[in-house]
Amino acid sequence: MQQKYAFKDISIWVNKPEDFQPPLSGDATADVVIVGGGLTGLSTALELKERGVDVAIIEKNFCGSGASGRNAGHLTPTIGKDIPTILTMFGRERAQRLLHFADGSIEHATGIMEKYNIDCDYVAGGNIIAAVHAKQEAGLEKAAKIAGDLGAHVAYLDADHMRQKAIPKAFTAGIWEQLGGVLHPGKYVMALRDAALKAGVKIYENSPMLRVDEGAQPVVHCAQGRLTAAHLVQATNAYTNASGRMKRAVLPLRVTLFETEKLTDEQMSRLGWPGMEGIYSAHEMLENFRLTKYGTLQGGSKIVRSTLGGGLAEGYHEPTFKAMTQMFRDRFPELPDVNIATWWGGWIGLTTNFLPKMGTHKKHANIHHAIGYNGHGVAQATHSGQMMADRITGRDNQFNALFEELGFLWPPEPLTWLGSKALTAYMGNIDARVDKAVRRAAHST
Ligand SMILES: Cc1cc2nc3c(=O)[nH]c(=O)nc-3n(C[C@H](O)[C@H](O)[C@H](O)COP(=O)(O)OP(=O)(O)OC[C@H]3O[C@@H](n4cnc5c(N)ncnc54)[C@H](O)[C@@H]3O)c2cc1C
Repeated sequence: MQQKYAFKDISIWVNKPEDFQPPLSGDATADVVIVGGGLTGLSTALELKERGVDVAIIEKNFCGSGASGRNAGHLTPTIGKDIPTILTMFGRERAQRLLHFADGSIEHATGIMEKYNIDCDYVAGGNIIAAVHAKQEAGLEKAAKIAGDLGAHVAYLDADHMRQKAIPKAFTAGIWEQLGGVLHPGKYVMALRDAALKAGVKIYENSPMLRVDEGAQPVVHCAQGRLTAAHLVQATNAYTNASGRMKRAVLPLRVTLFETEKLTDEQMSRLGWPGMEGIYSAHEMLENFRLTKYGTLQGGSKIVRSTLGGGLAEGYHEPTFKAMTQMFRDRFPELPDVNIATWWGGWIGLTTNFLPKMGTHKKHANIHHAIGYNGHGVAQATHSGQMMADRITGRDNQFNALFEELGFLWPPEPLTWLGSKALTAYMGNIDARVDKAVRRAAHST
C-alpha cells in the first residue's frame, strides 16, 4: 500500500555503507567483544584498540543503524528528568557530579571530533530548553538557578535575551546550555565507524547476537558463527530487551522526527535563528527543533510510543505525523509556506531513574554494559567508551561509580506498559493545556 507520508526506515542521515562488513562466520576470538555498533560500541572499541586490546564488534544491522544514526543531533549535556528532579532524587553532591559528568561528556565528544578529524557539521551554539508559554517561564528560571548553583554551564535567557539572539518568536524564554550544539548524526557515527575500521577493530555486520554463554570466557552466538572473548560489553541501548540479555533494564520508546524541505534565503531571514542553537521545549514530553547546515529545519519528539511486552513500537504512524505537523505549525507561524518533507524515527532506551546504566555484571566480572541514555546519549554514549575501556583495563575513572548502583528494573508486564501509558497520558494532558493556551493567545492577537 502506498504510504501517505514520505517515511524513511532508518533516517535521513545514514545509508547502508558501501564497505558493509561480512557477518560473523565460524569460530572467532577477541580480547573484548562488544555487542552493538552505535556510539557506545564504536567509542568503546576505539578506546580499547588504542590501548592495544584486540576488539571485535557484533552488530545486527550496520554500525550506525540504531539510535546513533537516527537521532536529532543535539549534542547536549541534558541528563536525568530535569535538574530540580535530579537534586531531589540524588542529593546535592551526586547531582553536582552528574552535571559535571554531563558537561564533561560534551568536552569528551568534541575532543573525539578533533582527534579523528571528524567533519560532522557541528555548530557549537549550545541548546536552549525553551518556554512556549509564560506558564513555563518561572520553572525554567528556577531550574537555571539550581543548575548554575550546582556548577553547570547554563544561563537563563529572558524574553529580551531570546530576541537579542533572534530565536524564533514562539520560544519566549529559556535555559541556555552553553556547552554543545547541533551536529549531523550520520556524519558523526559513520566517521567513528571508519576510524574503528582503520584502527583494525574487527566489525561483523548483519550479525544479530542470538545468545551469550556467560562464564570465564563469554561466547557470543550468531546465526553462522560464535565469538569467544575474555570480556563482553553489551552496547545495545533501546534494543536491549530484544537482545535477550538484561531484560527490563530499559523501556524502548519510539520517537518520531521530521525534516522540512529546504528553506529559501527569504524564508530563512523571516525565521531568524542565526546562532542555530538547538531548541528543546519545556514541555513534559519535550519537542525538539534545530536547523541543519544545509538549510532545512528538523524537529520532532513530543509523542512517544511503547508496546505491551517491551518490544519496539512500529515506525510509520500517521496519527503521530498528523499531531506533529500541528506542532510544527504552532511553533513556526512565520513559515506557513514551508512543508515537512520526510519522516523517520528510532527507539530511545528509558531507565527507571532517567540515568544511563553503566556497570559490570554482579556475578560475572567480565560482562559489562552501557545502555539507557534516555534520549540524550549523543555525548554521553561517546563518553561511555572511555568509561568502559577504563573499567576493562583497570584504570580509575571518576565517573564509573556514578551509575553503578542506581535505579531499578522496569516491573513485569503488563505493569510497565500500563504505567507508561498512564504517565504519558498524564504528561500529555499537561502539555495539551499549554498548547491550547498558546493557540488561544495566537488567535487573540
Ligand atoms: C529519534 C531519536 C532522537 C534522538 N535525539 C537525540 C539528540 O538529539 N541528542 C542526544 O543526545 N541523543 C538523542 N537520542 C539518543 C541517542 O541517539 C542515543 O542515546 C545514542 O545514540 C545511543 O547510542 P548507543 O550506541 O548506545 O545505541 P545505538 O546507536 O542504538 O546502538 C545500539 C546498536 O546495537 C545493535 N544491536 C541491538 N541488538 C543487537 C543484537 N542482538 N546483536 C547485535 N547488535 C545488536 C543495534 O543494531 C544498534 O546498532 C535520540 C534517539 C532517537 C532514537
